[in-house]
Amino acid sequence: MSDFTESIARNLEGCEAFSVGGSPTCKKCFPDGYQEDDEVESSFSWQACDSCGSTFGGDRSPAHWLDGEALQHCEVCVDCLAYHANGDLPETWRMMPADVHPSAALPRQ
Ligand SMILES: [Zn+2]
Ligand SMILES: [Zn+2]
Repeated sequence: MSDFTESIARNLEGCEAFSVGGSPTCKKCFPDGYQEDDEVESSFSWQACDSCGSTFGGDRSPAHWLDGEALQHCEVCVDCLAYHANGDLPETWRMMPADVHPSAALPRQ
């Protein structure tokens, strides 16, 4: 196990049926309701990845899991997107220590 997969196992413990991609029934993905062929665009964010916990800024894509019957929305980084979709492991991955987090200097939104 790598640091990457260990981190994911820790963060997603108890998250059932985890899957990446937009969900037609998710209100966070489609606040105005899902229309046919709608897709959720990935967007740049400094928010920590909900899967591996990486705090590197980058594109975040939607992902979902089930808490019992309830669909839960979260956002994952490109490394996790590839990992959860294809099982691909990133060539380089590390978590940035919080004290050097570049977004610390940015105003909170
Ligand atoms: Zn969603
Ligand atoms: Zn990630």
